[in-house]
Amino acid sequence: MKNNKTLIIFLAMLLALFLSACGGSSSETPAASEASSSAPAVEEAALIGISMPTKSSSRWISDGESMVKVFTEMGYRTDLQFAEDDIPNQLAQIENMVTRGVDVLIIAAIDGSTLSDILKKAHDQGVLVVAYDRLITKTEYVDYYVTFDNFQVGVLQASQIESALGLKDGKGPFNVELFGGSPDDTNAFYFYDGGMSILQPYIDNGQLMVQSGQMGMDKVSTLRWDGAVAQARMDNLLSAFYTDKRVDAVLAPYDGLSRGIISSLKGVGYGTAGQPWPVVTGQDAEVASIKQMIAGEQMFTVFKDTRELAKQAATMVDAALKGQEVPINDTSTYNNEVKIVPSYLLVPYSVDINNYHEILVESGYYTEDQLK
Ligand code: BGC
Repeated sequence: MKNNKTLIIFLAMLLALFLSACGGSSSETPAASEASSSAPAVEEAALIGISMPTKSSSRWISDGESMVKVFTEMGYRTDLQFAEDDIPNQLAQIENMVTRGVDVLIIAAIDGSTLSDILKKAHDQGVLVVAYDRLITKTEYVDYYVTFDNFQVGVLQASQIESALGLKDGKGPFNVELFGGSPDDTNAFYFYDGGMSILQPYIDNGQLMVQSGQMGMDKVSTLRWDGAVAQARMDNLLSAFYTDKRVDAVLAPYDGLSRGIISSLKGVGYGTAGQPWPVVTGQDAEVASIKQMIAGEQMFTVFKDTRELAKQAATMVDAALKGQEVPINDTSTYNNEVKIVPSYLLVPYSVDINNYHEILVESGYYTEDQLK
């Protein structure tokens, strides 16, 4: 018995020696290694670090989940982290990803100007960096930006006010108040500028009046896109300028702010037959806001299909990793203060009570039940 076992081990060793002398081990043949480079084994698949800003807004959860799904289907590995709107937290998460050896970083920054040091380190390690729906600024080490047409988002929001109030037909004067997004997010400026490209002429000709006089991003921005901050500002505006006047429209750049603004309006009696809701805009088509739209409280939002954005990000990364041409459609808009970042812009859609079902439910973005 013992002798048999020794014999078997001896024969096995001989076979192994023979195979390695002929270069016959499957993982070492040139053919095999070629095969493994064109179709990497699971443990060799590139690792994609995905850093999202917060879970407090449902869109970023959808973005993160969609990316994990698409990258996994493409055979990549992923590491998805949410930073809960805390800058040091996001820096630490990205630092960990770099230390872990990610091949790619996809980042939706909390503050796009805070990542220069860690991105230098990532660059030195050959990491590909993609800014995801928020531009990363003050660094050359960002390779691509994938986003929506952000100026157009603002144009859509302001056009919603324009059509709801009949401004093109010369109606007015109406009172409008303006809200901006977070001043550390370059998108906020594109949204505001897009919005003002439509509203400013009506302010100039008197069809729109800003009773507070608060205009310009330095006066109307909302740090960290915080709904509570917007609500507090709306409270102040209503008590300082609207005790004997009606506010007819509020330009709000994000659903989370719109919900704060609507709470404030509700607090002083808007939303009744005698004092109907003003036109309130928004962005992201968040579930909570679509419910408010169905209830007649928020009139509009802008939908940005995060499934498409995730897919586009993955397509760009895949092409870059394979050394192929990376699809981009904008090489002039997104100057990050060091360079113009090659970008791919997707199309945003205007959503209201008449088309939300088709755009959000029939497309499978939400189920009917989610909106109940
Ligand atoms: C995004 C918007 C979002 C906002 C708040 C922006 O950077 O482009 O879609 O509403 O952040 O999260």
